[in-house]
Amino acid sequence: MSQTRQFISLDQAQAPFFVGLDLGGTNIKVGVVDDGGRPLSWLSIPTDPDKGPEDAAARMGQAVKQAVDQAGLEPSAVARVGLGSPGTMDIPAGMLIEPVNLKGWDYFPIRDRVSHHAGLPVAFINDAAAAAYGEYWIGAGREFHSLVLFTLGTGIGCGIIIGDLSIDGENSHGAECGHLIIDYAEDARLCGCGQPGHLEAYASATALSRRADEVLSTRLREKTSLRQRIDQEQQKPEEDRRGVPELVAAEAEAGDPLAMNLILETARYLGIGIVNLMHTIDPNGVLLGGAMTFGGNDSEVGRKFLDRIKQEVNRRAFGVLAERTTIDFATLGGDAGYIGAAGIARVEHRQKGGSP
Ligand SMILES: [Zn+2]
Repeated sequence: MSQTRQFISLDQAQAPFFVGLDLGGTNIKVGVVDDGGRPLSWLSIPTDPDKGPEDAAARMGQAVKQAVDQAGLEPSAVARVGLGSPGTMDIPAGMLIEPVNLKGWDYFPIRDRVSHHAGLPVAFINDAAAAAYGEYWIGAGREFHSLVLFTLGTGIGCGIIIGDLSIDGENSHGAECGHLIIDYAEDARLCGCGQPGHLEAYASATALSRRADEVLSTRLREKTSLRQRIDQEQQKPEEDRRGVPELVAAEAEAGDPLAMNLILETARYLGIGIVNLMHTIDPNGVLLGGAMTFGGNDSEVGRKFLDRIKQEVNRRAFGVLAERTTIDFATLGGDAGYIGAAGIARVEHRQKGGSP
């Protein structure tokens, strides 16, 4: 669901320039942006995590050079590179700790190795925080002073930006809002992190699939087109199969009440998590991005999903916050990560007085 941004040409661009890297378990996105966050070039390379982190760091260095060349720039025009990476990590040390989606990359000094291969200084940040910064800089949050971004996918990522500051915490484990506790019962659902009752165990794509399975296996007499749709999908070769959340969205769009209810339940859980954050941070806005946004503002299901979140917020939040906090979908799609990583590089560049 990655939109292609409008590229600007070099004569429209404002120096200095920054390169953003968005490291994922499957692909690495690389983009060059100008001082206003406007992209000049973009490319994607496979992560190939099995080849190990040093190999990837070397290819990231090459990709940075290639993206700079594609933008028509000399390497000397680039002030700094930003690298957004999945955790766990030690941000001040520039180190991956135990990244879940990058097996065998533990305790790799990724910031300095990418910097070595790119020949440029590198700013290092959590991938969800990078996406949040992207939305804050030039996306749905560009009018805000402070925002929270949830990325809804296999898990739930989160970034909190206040002013130009990403809330990373003292141990690089801040803003882990996917692990807010929303159910304290002993038999609460287990999260991917191993702990019970976390938001991610209720409202991620994985959780939605699990809840769909449960409903379909326990309420056998309920009329729903979802059961047949999932069964049909199971007949297809694995690589062609669409994910259960996508099927739930399609059936909800077609008018299936059970599918719609699964989505509205997801919204209710998210609403509860959002209220907890509103009462902690009181941000200008809370944005929802990632793969599981049910078509966003462009689809009826997406709009109902958002309305249900707002309903839950109105019911549970302080009145002044319910009234004033914007809750909406993010707008940068798959570009938020590399643009935001470049933005964090820009912040670091400015803090250091423009020197590397
Ligand atoms: Zn958790």
